[in-house]
Amino acid sequence: MTLDNIKEEILNSKNIIILTHEVPDGDAIGSSLAMYIGLKQLGKDVDIVIPKYSKTYSFLPCINKIKAEGKIENYDLAIALDCGDIKRLNGFSNYFENANCKISIDHHEANTMFADYNFVNPTAPACSQILITVLKALNIEITKDIGTCLLTGIITDTGGFKYQNVKPETFEFAAEILSKGVNVSEIYKKTLQTVSKEKFELRKRAINRIELLEEGKIAFTYITQEDEEQTNSEDHDGIVEIGRDIEGVEISIFLRQNDNNEYKISLRSNDYVNVSDICLLLGGGGHMRAAGGTITGVSFEKAKEKVISECKKHLHK
Ligand code: 5GP
Ligand code: MN
Repeated sequence: MTLDNIKEEILNSKNIIILTHEVPDGDAIGSSLAMYIGLKQLGKDVDIVIPKYSKTYSFLPCINKIKAEGKIENYDLAIALDCGDIKRLNGFSNYFENANCKISIDHHEANTMFADYNFVNPTAPACSQILITVLKALNIEITKDIGTCLLTGIITDTGGFKYQNVKPETFEFAAEILSKGVNVSEIYKKTLQTVSKEKFELRKRAINRIELLEEGKIAFTYITQEDEEQTNSEDHDGIVEIGRDIEGVEISIFLRQNDNNEYKISLRSNDYVNVSDICLLLGGGGHMRAAGGTITGVSFEKAKEKVISECKKHLHK
């Protein structure tokens, strides 16, 4: 069984690197830190490498252990968390490929099974939820710190237990974590409620530009590099959800300019459109109700047209 192999590989490794997806969200950071703390409990030599992350997550235990680069070329073991595709490993796929053994623990529907051992469960609402099972298999004690990281992942990837991906087990896991003394109210406030003034300014720009298309079934908005410079914020977390929350909207589209001719797409749906299918067509991936991708080599108008036209097709399928 994959879990047995994973357990054996972890127990037999000394130098381990933990990697996650680029522009890491609460589940990416939460699951990575939980794994880090757990492996330290086992006495492993662990590096957690994430070049850039939002300061929203600075309250998490061991966040200061995150490094911008690995310290050796060839780790005994590389673990990718919350990442469906090796191309999304923050530009660090070299550490992954050079490791003697490669493990992926994930919940993305379109996971490309890029590791030696892939422990992937697309029905889990968060990678952090899967991790509880892995940590327990390793006899790692779920401490308050580990619980704080895991619950952050679960809360952020379920929008605070409100998305369709929430399962009875999600509450069971959450209840178990809460029994360790984790402060759920703090996690909720820091990750889903409080926004910095800079982020608020960026959001205002995106909100002011929301266009409703297809009789209000599609919401579209965007952010440019200039917006980021002028507001001094690069934190787009949550912008795409604003469009989805408008009554009658099925698909919300958010385009963010990465580079002159490169746009990052974020899609969300409410009830019936599988946005992961749309993003796969555009070279990305994700989940049924939340997915993303990148469009390169085209102008803003072309990128906008391309993504809207794919969304329209899927709306009427
Ligand atoms: P977000 O819109 O928040 O960036 O991403 C939504 C979901 O889609 C997340 O689970 C994220 O990991 C996934 N996702 C976003 N961009 C990409 C991409 O370019 N490729 C793949 N495979 N998944 C993506
Ligand atoms: Mn996730």
